[in-house]
Amino acid sequence: MAKKQFKAESKRLLGLMINSIYTNKEIFLRELISNASDALDKRYYLGLTDESKNVAKKDLWIKIEHSKDDRTLVIEDTGIGMTDSEMEKNLGTIAKSGSAEFQAQLEKADKNIDIIGQFGVGFYSAFMVADRIEVESRSAGSDQAWKWVSTGEDGYTITPAEKDSIGTRITLTLKNDTDDEKYSEYLEEYKLRSLVKKYSDYVRYPIKMDVTKSIPDPTDEDKTIDTVQEETLNSMVPIWKKQRSKIKPEEYNEFYKGKFNDWEDPQKVIHYSVEGNLSYTALLFIPKKAPYNFYNTDFEPGLQLYSKGVFILEKAKDLLPDCYRFITGLVDSEDLSLNISREILQQDRQVKALASSIDKKITKALEDMLKKEREEYEKFFDSFGLNLKYSLYKSYGMEKEKLQDLLLFRSSREQKYVTLKEYVERMPEDRNEIYFVSGSSIADIERLPVMDKVRDRDIEVLYFTDNVDEFAIRMMNDYNGKTFKSITEGDLDLGTEEEKKDREKKAEENKDMLSAMKEALGDKVKEVRISSRLKDDPVCMVADQGMSIEMEKVLSQDPNSKGLKATKILEINPDHPIFETLQKVNASNPDALKEYADVLYDQALLIEGLPIEDPVAYAKKIVDLMVKAGPKE
Ligand code: ADP
Repeated sequence: MAKKQFKAESKRLLGLMINSIYTNKEIFLRELISNASDALDKRYYLGLTDESKNVAKKDLWIKIEHSKDDRTLVIEDTGIGMTDSEMEKNLGTIAKSGSAEFQAQLEKADKNIDIIGQFGVGFYSAFMVADRIEVESRSAGSDQAWKWVSTGEDGYTITPAEKDSIGTRITLTLKNDTDDEKYSEYLEEYKLRSLVKKYSDYVRYPIKMDVTKSIPDPTDEDKTIDTVQEETLNSMVPIWKKQRSKIKPEEYNEFYKGKFNDWEDPQKVIHYSVEGNLSYTALLFIPKKAPYNFYNTDFEPGLQLYSKGVFILEKAKDLLPDCYRFITGLVDSEDLSLNISREILQQDRQVKALASSIDKKITKALEDMLKKEREEYEKFFDSFGLNLKYSLYKSYGMEKEKLQDLLLFRSSREQKYVTLKEYVERMPEDRNEIYFVSGSSIADIERLPVMDKVRDRDIEVLYFTDNVDEFAIRMMNDYNGKTFKSITEGDLDLGTEEEKKDREKKAEENKDMLSAMKEALGDKVKEVRISSRLKDDPVCMVADQGMSIEMEKVLSQDPNSKGLKATKILEINPDHPIFETLQKVNASNPDALKEYADVLYDQALLIEGLPIEDPVAYAKKIVDLMVKAGPKE
C-alpha cells in the first residue's frame, strides 16, 4: 500500500509538532477531546434534522483507554465519523494551510511554537506525544469503515477497516520517554483524570474511563481488592450554564483557549443571561489580539449557536454586528427552534431580536470597561479600535450613537488617549469646534509647521494617525453639536484678536502681491493668503473646506478614486523674512514673482508629504535663485 504524502505546509507543521520543544504538550488531549465533542454535536444535530439518523443521548460518549504494555492511549467517540475522503481532506491537510499568512508564519516559526496555539492546529498536536497515530472511523452516512495511519512526516495510508459502530477511534502510540519528557505520564490514570478536569470538564458528553478502585475485600476485612469500574471524568455542565460567581478566571481562560483556538488568554470575558420573551445565555470573549487573518476576506466572524444546550451552528454571523466582528464566543438560547438553518437564520425574527440584544450588551460591556478599566480598554482599543472606526465609516454614520463614545484619540495635550467626551469637557467654552490634525504618525504630525502655534497656545488638538480617522469623523458630522475642524484646513484662526487685526491689515496692504502670486499659480491653488497658523515656517498648504490634504493622500492609493484632489490654499507667514523678500520682488521685478510663487508652492507640498509635479523644474528654480542670491563678486 503506497503512502500518500501530506500537503507541503502540513508536512512542515508536522515536523514542528514532532520535534516540538513546546512545554505544554499536554494540550493534545484537549484538542482530541474537543474534536470528539464537535463530532458528537454534529451527529446529534443530524439525528434531530433527519429522523432516520436519530440517536439517543445516552449513546453519545467519549472514552479514554490506556495500556502501559502497548504504550497506547485511545480516544474513542460515537460522533459523526469520517469517510475515506473526509479522512483524506481533514487529516491529510490542515484547514488553514491555504492562507499565505499561515505559510509566512511557518517559514519564520521554526521552533517558535506559538504557532501551535495561534493557528489551532488541533489534531496534529497529537504528534507532539505520539510517534504513530491510527484513526479508525465509520461515518454516520456509510457502512464502510476506514483506517488512517501515520508515523509522521513520511506520509499516511488509508485502508478499509472493520468497525461495527459509527464514530471514531484514535490510537496514539506514545513516544519513548527521554530525560526531559516523560510521555508515559499520559498512561497514568491520575494524570488523564486531571487533564480532563483541567481542560475538558465542561464537555457536554460523558468522557469515560475505566479506573481501578480499591474496595474492601468481603472475605477479609483487613484487605482490599482492586476492581475496575467505568467512571465519567467530567462534570458535563457547560461552563456557560454555571453560576458566574463560581467560575474562576482560569476556567474561563482555559475554556476560551481550548474552544476558540487562541494561545493567549482573552482580553475580556462577557458572560450574562437574559430572561424574558427571548431567554438566552451568552459567553463572549474579546481576544487580546486580532487573529492573523482578521483583515482578510477569509476571516469568518460569528458566534457559536446552541439551542437548549444543543449545538446548532459553528459560526452564526448574523448574531454579531460588523463593528464587533472581532468577538468570539457562544450563545445558548431556550427559544430557538432546533431546525434553524443558516438560511433561516438570516430572516428569523427571533434571531434578529437576539442579535440586537447581544449588540446592546457588548456596547454596554465596552462602555463599562472604558469607565472602570481604562488601561484594559486602551489595550482593547489598540487591537480593535481600527475596526470600530471602519464600522463608523462603512455604516455611513449609522452606528454613530453607539460608537462615538467608544473612540479614543491621541492628542497634543498629553501623550495619552482621550475620548471625545473628555476633549469636549475641557475645551474652551466659547469654542464650538473639535480640532484635529492628520498625519501618518505622531512624529510626522508634530513636525508640521502649524504645530508650533498649537504648542505655543496650548491648544488641544486630536491626532488622526489612521487613514480612516478623517473619513470616520466626516461620517459622524458632529459630536454632541460640536463639529470637527482640521487645523490645516479652511480659515482657521489660531491667533489672538490683535494678531487677527494685524493680519487683516497686512492682507489689505499686500492685496496686489497675493493676487499676483495666485495668478502665477493658476488653478493649482484657490487662493494665496496670509497665514495665522505659522510661527517659524515660511509657508504651508491648507485645504479649503471639503476634502482635506490627508484624505487626498489616502485616496491617491485607491485606484477608483485617483485624481480626486483637495482644493488647496497656499498660506504665507507674514512674520518670516521671506515675506519681506516677496514684497521687494513684487515692487522691483513683478515678473520674477512667479518663480518665487512656484518654489514656495512646491515647498508647501513637500512639507505636507505630497508629491510635487515636476521635481526637475523645482530643483532648477532653486539653483537659479541660489545663483542670483549668491555673492556678486
Ligand atoms: P479543527 O478541529 O480546528 O478543524 P483538526 O486538525 O483538529 O482541526 O481537525 C481537522 C478535521 O478533522 C476536523 O475539522 C474534523 O472535520 C475532522 N475530525 C477530527 N477529529 C475527528 C473526530 N473525532 N470525528 C470526526 N471528525 C474528526
